[in-house]
Amino acid sequence: MPIVRHPEFYFSDGSVVIIVEKTAFRVHQSVLARHSDVFNDMWDVPQPNKVELYDGCPTVILSDSVNDFVDVMRVIYDAFHFDKLKPDTNLSTLITFIAGILRVSTKYSMQQLRNKCISVIQEKFPSTLRGCDEVLTRGIQYVPSEIVRIIPLARETVLPKVLPWAFYLCAHISVDEILANSVLSWRDKALCLAGKERLWEMQKKKTHGFLLDFKQSPQCTQQCQTRVSRSLKLENIETLRISPHPLEEYTDWKSLMLCIKCQSMAEAQHRDGREKVWQMLPGLFHLGTWDDICKDQSC
Ligand SMILES: [Zn+2]
Repeated sequence: MPIVRHPEFYFSDGSVVIIVEKTAFRVHQSVLARHSDVFNDMWDVPQPNKVELYDGCPTVILSDSVNDFVDVMRVIYDAFHFDKLKPDTNLSTLITFIAGILRVSTKYSMQQLRNKCISVIQEKFPSTLRGCDEVLTRGIQYVPSEIVRIIPLARETVLPKVLPWAFYLCAHISVDEILANSVLSWRDKALCLAGKERLWEMQKKKTHGFLLDFKQSPQCTQQCQTRVSRSLKLENIETLRISPHPLEEYTDWKSLMLCIKCQSMAEAQHRDGREKVWQMLPGLFHLGTWDDICKDQSC
């Protein structure tokens, strides 16, 4: 196949040529070097007799996807490229927008570009309980087919900080849908399913125990135990079991009609439980601890 010049990124005053999947990009070494030492050094190795030339320029062939490479050229040559992402951009568009940039910037140590991608994605996939509360309050709609795309991308580009929340969201996908999914590896499918069980355990024991197995306060004066034990029907319990959500903040305390002692005890258990679940979240999906994750992502 002959080499084709890219219609947008083949500049007549470009100083180097990069060939990706038979597409030639004639670009400026000094511009690339501002973003990446790897690109800076790429042409500096002294090989006087071995320099490949294309159209009179030193040339390298890269083994990336041409679409990913075009996305990176867009960011480099258009200072406002990221402004095309609006605050209400849906997750699928956002993942498509950043995936190529993230892959190439990770591979060629383009740290600023990579950090920009990370900050965009971490707005939707928080790594703190406060961030989790924010996304829950904003009511971001997570579509299963979009969530699962982030998992292999995060693994490929060493972004472990987004994985706990991504797996947590996957716990809301039905078992059949997880098994039939073509994006996730079998290992990640197993982690989703095991995590679903563990989140349900957390919801029963750590965060929402007061709805399932209410124990009244020793100082209770109104026999709260007898009323609350009947507050959840079996069908509601079954819904929770197949789609556990222990980090969902419970706010409907008044409807339980507890005495003030029982309510403050249940509220404290719920609050502490949510913090514990957040701390334990990576471990529930075999991702180590938050500290391990921070080391791996060097943050
Ligand atoms: Zn009570």
